[in-house]
Amino acid sequence: MDPDGARRSAPPRQQLRPGVLITAARLVTAEGEGAPVPGGYLEIADGVIGSVGTGVPPSEPDIELPDGYLLPGFVDLQVNGYFGEDLQAVDEAGWTAVAGGLPSTGTTSFLPTLITAPLDRLAADLQAAAVIVPGLPAGGARVLGVHLEGPFLSPLRRGAHNEAWLTDPTPAAVDALIQAAGGLLRLVTLAPERPGALQAIDRLVAAGVLASVGHSDATAAQVAAAAEHGARMVTHLFNAQRPLAHREPGVVGQALTDGRLTSGLIADLHHVAGAVCALAFRAAPGRIALVTDAAAAAGMPPGEYLLGGEAVTLPPADGAPPVRADGTLAGSALRMDRAVANMVAEGVSLAEAVTAATRIPADLIGRPDLGRLAPGAAADLVWLSPDLTTRAAWVGGEVVFTDGAAATLATVPTGPLLGATFRWGTRPARR
Ligand SMILES: [Zn+2]
Repeated sequence: MDPDGARRSAPPRQQLRPGVLITAARLVTAEGEGAPVPGGYLEIADGVIGSVGTGVPPSEPDIELPDGYLLPGFVDLQVNGYFGEDLQAVDEAGWTAVAGGLPSTGTTSFLPTLITAPLDRLAADLQAAAVIVPGLPAGGARVLGVHLEGPFLSPLRRGAHNEAWLTDPTPAAVDALIQAAGGLLRLVTLAPERPGALQAIDRLVAAGVLASVGHSDATAAQVAAAAEHGARMVTHLFNAQRPLAHREPGVVGQALTDGRLTSGLIADLHHVAGAVCALAFRAAPGRIALVTDAAAAAGMPPGEYLLGGEAVTLPPADGAPPVRADGTLAGSALRMDRAVANMVAEGVSLAEAVTAATRIPADLIGRPDLGRLAPGAAADLVWLSPDLTTRAAWVGGEVVFTDGAAATLATVPTGPLLGATFRWGTRPARR
């Protein structure tokens, strides 16, 4: 909040681009209790949120969002591909297409995720990514780094990963990957029961990389040991890990009860039943991060696609995940706005579901400047319709997506409309 007095005494901002004032029917800030705030407003200047408030806005709004919800853009820590593009190919055009398209699903920043491959191939891929990412064009979702899911995984819980390429996290292997990525490596999913894994977690943490337990047959005690060494996440809770049993809590039991661990959750209602997703939110409040684990087939019609170079089929059922020939789930076809809506339908509050897709993942990877509507945070925003479908998205204060209705506008305002209020969904008067 920005009290009026402080705002009036603020220094003039002529040197900055003029600000934009947005009013919204409801704000979901993802801060504090985070309950939707009716009649909120938000000021943006220079790509950053200047103030957030309620009630009478300080001036005529530039953009009025008459219904639905304005919230922080989604932060997705696990994206393998989308729109027919497999990020594993580490190809500039493909990465540009995925980053450019994700805002249509409400996601404004993400971690491209590479799955298990031969070590030297992964090192080369990370090197290539480190060259591509700085050159990605504006106008898409932010690439926050790379998530490496494998190759230090358990063959017993490998899911769609190729067993031939699973290996132990030796110091040499871990260092080679960290160095190849040139600072781009943000998250590594590994099985802590593999020989050398705890020392590998030490190395990753020292390099500023988040270590996550996943594709793992670890016992609860082994997961706790990983947390002792600095692991702070569990990858796609319930999927490809030792389940909860009443005498051996497994990966799931430790994930839910250990306050140091935040769990990724694929809330497409296919990977995990809705009631079990809701159970996770209740058991680990504030420690669930929604992820899509989207594959190349996401956002595409039913058909044949690639995941990590292997063929997968996207079945016709709406929202059903792609599967390999043997029936193994191979990533998802999930949109993040749908994940939020799915959780709300399962009885999770909107504020909690939004926070799980915004502030919690942002904080987990050390980006407190993202994932919240708060002064000083990046102006990465999503406007959802009353049924929680993405209608518009902003990255750094710039509009990067509008839905069909809003797209009838000749130009979408990215600056003030010279004193006129722009009411979304209507055509501004010609002048
Ligand atoms: Zn996985």
